[in-house]
Amino acid sequence: PSHKPKRKIAVLGSRSVGKSSLTVRYIEDAFVDSYYPTIENVFNKTIRYKNKEYDCDIIDTAGQDEYSILNSRHAIGIHGYVLVYSIALRSSFEMVQTVYDKILNYTGTETVPCVVVGQKSDLHVQRQVSEEEGKALADSLKAAWVETSARHNANVAKVFELMLSQTEKGTTEGGPE
Ligand code: GDP
Repeated sequence: PSHKPKRKIAVLGSRSVGKSSLTVRYIEDAFVDSYYPTIENVFNKTIRYKNKEYDCDIIDTAGQDEYSILNSRHAIGIHGYVLVYSIALRSSFEMVQTVYDKILNYTGTETVPCVVVGQKSDLHVQRQVSEEEGKALADSLKAAWVETSARHNANVAKVFELMLSQTEKGTTEGGPE
């Protein structure tokens, strides 16, 4: 019988960094210019990773500030986190560490599977965060890192591949799910 392991992935970050755009681009291969920023959406998608299929819920969160970005619903039963910033907004980059610390506070674990995503890579003229800084932050969080553009569909699928590489790290073939 085909039984796909369930994985729950939360997409977190400052408002307007393009969390919805990234998620919708991945799920529907479309770029939508305006989305209701305060509505949380859950998308379901089967993702293939290393020849195995995973039944994934992708939660596009809608927190508006440091206090509402993460709540307990996003800390329980989540397998991995996509932490999004905009390369054109330094404050959103600084928020990644804040959110990461909050996650660890909630989960009570030492690390958590994460992908740090530098969104809006098409906005090179407005760049405020270098690739090196992005990589260095991800290294310090033992997370994966990638820059993406939801607008240009650059590296979008890569985010979710990296996410599964993080959640499945250390799990053995046929081991517990
Ligand atoms: P969210 O609040 O993090 O979910 O952000 P949205 O997905 O609603 O996007 C916020 C704004 O950024 C919208 O005006 C989008 O059109 C724009 N945006 C999203 N992704 C990109 C991108 O990759 N490049 C550029 N230039 N703009 C983007």
